Amino acid sequence: MPEPSCLDDQPITYLKGVGAKVAEKLQRLGISTVADMLFHLPFRYEDRSKVVAIGSLQTGQSCLFEGQVELTEVVFRGRRSMLVRLSDGTGFVTLRFFHFSNSQKQAMKQGQWLRCFGDVKAYGKSGAADIVHPEYRLITEEQRGIIDEGLLAVYPVTEGLHQTSFRKLIKQAFGLLQQGATVRDCLPSHILKDVDLPTLLESLEQLHYPQTMPLADASESPAYNRLIFEELLANHLSLSQLKKGIQEESAPSFRSNNVKKKAFLKALDFALTSAQQRVVNEISADLILQQPMQRLLQGDVGSGKTVVAACAALTAIESDHQVALMAPTELLAEQHFKNFQQWMTALGVQVDCLVGRHKGKAYEAITSDIRDGRSNMIIGTQALFQEKVSFAKLGLVIIDEQHRFGVQQRLALRDKGMENGLCPHQLVMTATPIPRTLAMLGYADLDLSIIDELPPGRTPVTTSVVAVSKKNLIIERIKQGVADGRQVYWVCTLIEESEMLQCQAAEVAAELLVESLPELSVALIHGRMKAEEKEAVMQRFKQQEIDILVATTVIEVGVDVPNASLMIIENAERLGLAQLHQLRGRVGRGERASHCVLMYKPPLSSNANERLSIMRETTDGFKIAEKDMELRGHGELLGKRQAGFMRFKIADMQRDGWMLDNVVRCADEILQKQPELVQPLVHRWLMNSVEYAHV
Ligand code: ADP
Ligand code: MG
Repeated sequence: MPEPSCLDDQPITYLKGVGAKVAEKLQRLGISTVADMLFHLPFRYEDRSKVVAIGSLQTGQSCLFEGQVELTEVVFRGRRSMLVRLSDGTGFVTLRFFHFSNSQKQAMKQGQWLRCFGDVKAYGKSGAADIVHPEYRLITEEQRGIIDEGLLAVYPVTEGLHQTSFRKLIKQAFGLLQQGATVRDCLPSHILKDVDLPTLLESLEQLHYPQTMPLADASESPAYNRLIFEELLANHLSLSQLKKGIQEESAPSFRSNNVKKKAFLKALDFALTSAQQRVVNEISADLILQQPMQRLLQGDVGSGKTVVAACAALTAIESDHQVALMAPTELLAEQHFKNFQQWMTALGVQVDCLVGRHKGKAYEAITSDIRDGRSNMIIGTQALFQEKVSFAKLGLVIIDEQHRFGVQQRLALRDKGMENGLCPHQLVMTATPIPRTLAMLGYADLDLSIIDELPPGRTPVTTSVVAVSKKNLIIERIKQGVADGRQVYWVCTLIEESEMLQCQAAEVAAELLVESLPELSVALIHGRMKAEEKEAVMQRFKQQEIDILVATTVIEVGVDVPNASLMIIENAERLGLAQLHQLRGRVGRGERASHCVLMYKPPLSSNANERLSIMRETTDGFKIAEKDMELRGHGELLGKRQAGFMRFKIADMQRDGWMLDNVVRCADEILQKQPELVQPLVHRWLMNSVEYAHV
């Protein structure tokens, strides 16, 4: 008999029947130790504890039933198949086999009893019960009703490894536990008692071998909650560690007389709002420290994050360090570039822009300025973290519209600055309000600053929801608006997720507008245009040479043309709340009252109807975000691009958020009293997520 061992430390090959080949397949599911096998949880259960009368089979169910063969025939309707008609006196069903051997056919002779398990489907016009490829066993009449199975767990599988293999391996692992092997219970028992959750072993047993059919909502089960708690805890611990790790780095301390910053503020034609002022102070206080700032700046669209970023940048530049500002789109990078150039060139700051379009000589020139330190303020897109870009003295990294980037990109840009031994400060800006639960987990490594006030003189955007059949009225309204000196966005949204079709739609819309409003100047901007072309159009729009800008969602983030005060969004029903809010944020930036028309094509689904109503009712980004979370379920809130971020194995931010206070408390305690538990927990739950690989 093998020594009692801890299954967390046993490679999966320790199990009988697992050689290199099977191990490789299991690896694909993230299973590399015997303990990992135990954490491979079923996603549903089959009830094989009772035989269901054929007459009461219901479509959509997986059932165990028994019956006697009445007829077996091979038919060629479209495809060769064997049909077996089975009856138990209460009704009949048809078993359907597309693959079958001759001996199978022979065995299913009239009068033979079968015990079957399979999914019941309705078939044909009659709606007769039909089961394709059921599991079956030949039985004698005497064996009817004598069953030795109960609830059976069904596991996620991988190519080349069947359900039965998983069941056997898990059984084997439990066998080892019975012989004295252990699996590491990372939650101290007094905490378990405190939060009223079962031990690890109890939970695992319950989940793999339940006594009674588990509830449809797994999170109602204490066994499941115990594991969800662990997963949330592991996530929180890994971010805490990340934060701690960064806090141990040293950062350049920026002390300066703020001559440039003061000059910059003086030159602005407005004063900072008190919220902006407060955040500028919070940032300055961080930048004096030799510990890297890790701050998240949250402020609704139009709240004026850019000038705050500029203040932070000048603080670093005045202390002789470079600043990198990363924007999610070229359009936004170019816009920031224009602004920063205007603000800073006069102060003797060299501002450069590096985006995808810079190739060859231009690229070399810019990157060498960055490398040699001539460049002080560098604005760009993801192009900024290409390998070839290296910084002379990067002191501050600013990331705009963080919801577009993953944690990974954020860390990558920071690592660029680390090349020189010092860790740059980091300011992350987002317009997406982050509900508390999300912030506690996803941003546990960041301190939070909030701009909770819009610049004065803004009139909230009014919004109306209009059916597409009223397009003519809307066009009339545009005509009026332009006559009053307004500029207009006409936004064509996603069509089948295809950028090309979206561009086509924009072209069609532009043609229609040119035709209907020949006296106005209409221009087009979309994602398939070259960056310079886009930039040129934006410039003309800004200079009011264009009345109506027909755009795809490329203008979604950050674009700032205060004189534009009317926005039409086509197919608004297709967009999520977060995106609608971002888009609408392009208007309402000037003093003039702005209006947004959400155009939709009936019929509206109830969900779409609700989204559009919310948009009409409020412009409060936080309310919209919470509603969004409610309507969409969970963490998709931060956008699809956040792929890999906060993807849990079993936890669900929305459903399980109530546990978070306890999770945080427990994490603090573990960090203080039992830090040795951190590594196994993080390994168990996050081993496959690269982003947290720092631990
Ligand atoms: P966001 O927070 O969405 O990035 P921006 O930084 O683009 O917002 O600012 C939106 C607009 O408000 C810009 O035109 C900017 O110049 C202007 N702005 C920023 N701060 C103030 C202020 N304190 N008073 C008046 N206008 C301001
Ligand atoms: Mg912005």
